[in-house]
Amino acid sequence: MLFFFDYSFHSLVVLKSTASGVIARFLGIVFFYYNSLVRAWRLNKQKKPASMEENCVNKHGNRKTVETTEIIIVGAGVAGAALAYILGKDGRRLHVIERDLNAPRRIAGENLMPGGYLKLIELGLEDCVDEIDAQRFLGYDLYKDGNGVTVSFPLVKFPSDVVGRSFHNGRFVQKLREKAASLHNVSLEQGTVTSLIEDNGTVKGVHYKDKSGRLLTAHAPLTVVCDGCFSNLRRSLCNPNVDVPSYFVGLGLTDCKLPKENYGAVILADPSPILLYTLSSTEVRCMVDIPSRNLPSVSDGEMAHYLRTMVAPKVLPELYTAFMSAIDKKNNIRVVPNKIMAAAPKPIPGAFLIGDALNIRHALTGGGMTVALSDVVLLRDLLRPLRDLSHASAVSKYLEAFYTMRKPMSSTINIAANVLQKVFRASSDPTMEDMQQAYFGYLKLGGPFSNGVSAILSGLSPRPLCLAFHFLAMSIYGVGRLLLPFPSPKRLWNGAKLLWVASSILLPFIWSEGVRQMFFPQTVPAYYRTPPGNKGIKVREGTPCGH
Ligand SMILES: Cc1cc2nc3c(=O)[nH]c(=O)nc-3n(C[C@H](O)[C@H](O)[C@H](O)COP(=O)(O)OP(=O)(O)OC[C@H]3O[C@@H](n4cnc5c(N)ncnc54)[C@H](O)[C@@H]3O)c2cc1C
Repeated sequence: MLFFFDYSFHSLVVLKSTASGVIARFLGIVFFYYNSLVRAWRLNKQKKPASMEENCVNKHGNRKTVETTEIIIVGAGVAGAALAYILGKDGRRLHVIERDLNAPRRIAGENLMPGGYLKLIELGLEDCVDEIDAQRFLGYDLYKDGNGVTVSFPLVKFPSDVVGRSFHNGRFVQKLREKAASLHNVSLEQGTVTSLIEDNGTVKGVHYKDKSGRLLTAHAPLTVVCDGCFSNLRRSLCNPNVDVPSYFVGLGLTDCKLPKENYGAVILADPSPILLYTLSSTEVRCMVDIPSRNLPSVSDGEMAHYLRTMVAPKVLPELYTAFMSAIDKKNNIRVVPNKIMAAAPKPIPGAFLIGDALNIRHALTGGGMTVALSDVVLLRDLLRPLRDLSHASAVSKYLEAFYTMRKPMSSTINIAANVLQKVFRASSDPTMEDMQQAYFGYLKLGGPFSNGVSAILSGLSPRPLCLAFHFLAMSIYGVGRLLLPFPSPKRLWNGAKLLWVASSILLPFIWSEGVRQMFFPQTVPAYYRTPPGNKGIKVREGTPCGH
């Protein structure tokens, strides 16, 4: 009996352990298959090539809980998305709030200069111009009164991939957003920031509306505002003095090609220039600059009439038909303001401004993204030695170095763009016409003259002294032209007028950038700010260009 009991007990135990073994094995197999299935599904999802239009972060972003956010980034455009990626790579816990996570449909930011591409490489974001049908951009042809001159970017010293790129801005921005959202410590959310949370003069975070309209708050020791040229947050962080000298009227042209492959075209027309560049393998973009004072209205057909009668006759003959049909296409005429705003920061602890929210230059030379990406590189370098951002005042004081360090790149590109939009505009003043002739003739000299100018415009030579040198040389060349074949009192007078007009165009822009910050940055105490907690360690020493 005892034996039987013992035996049955033993069999029960064996049965039980066998059954649990079977169940465990069964569960193990189920778990294993489930895991492999999930992994395969994920891999499959990763491998699936995203279509160009779908190349986007999902509409809700990748909202995930990032514990104790260190930095809030407002706006995931060119500056915000690039900054989110690079700070995320540095291990920062970030909350990015972007008003619209759909691919932007803007006609701005379509040419990235070679200098901007170099900044993308520094940020590890150069693959963001891949698979978006971007076109290589090597320079441009400048046309005046039927004559042309080719200006190439001086790229010989660089590897073959370092060139400019033209693309749909939305495709590029979505690539940047995707890269940022792929990092586990970056939370990208769709929402509109309505205001900054201030407490005793320190910004502690933001109020924002999420996608469903709920009012929420987010807190962090540092908020970086990158909400672009229409910023509604910059008012408390800088003294915005915005000028709108002109508008760009953009049209998409199809079934046509520019005269030279990989080269844009700039036509110096009356009243102001016309730009053309290859936007994708099937489209050419035409941007017509129209002074603000006589902007025709699109809605009542005045603009179409203006484009047909005033602009079409000046467009290159091989593009005439495509231009005329582009005017007739529905919703193909888009108008964007060309703003100018010098950087005039009012540093407030806990907040920081970069990109177009801080500083805007005329869009004529396409330098905005290069400046924005250069600002991102600089801010990354400054933030790197700071592990703790909680001492808002000390961090803010230290970050003031940024405003001087950015000058070599930002002031060179800003001034070149702002000066050229004045020089390129047709005027009844003969001295302005002399200025245009001087610029055109200077580029025609070729060699170091046109190379010097294109190095500045391409962001490859961010040196204010080079800019001043070439502007002076161009003015002297212009005066020389006027004095030849021999100086007469009238010619001398015209030469003096040209010098006067040239300096009255250039000097106010230099003034607004700050003479000392531009030409003598090392004499500015903020240049030598040390990271809080690292007394005596300079962030950066070296040339005024910081390179
Ligand atoms: C007509 C025109 C043509 C241009 N062409 C060129 C060119 O060819 N090459 C070039 O380099 N530059 C060009 N630029 C300039 C270039 O577009 C800008 O310098 C660049 O986009 C600046 O980047 P950003 O990140 O500061 O701003 P943006 O790229 O404008 O990004 C701002 C982001 O903030 C978001 N945002 C705004 N408000 C809020 C809010 N309250 N809450 C949350 N998110 C918000 C916006 O949705 C947007 O995504 C051009 C500009 C214009 C006007």
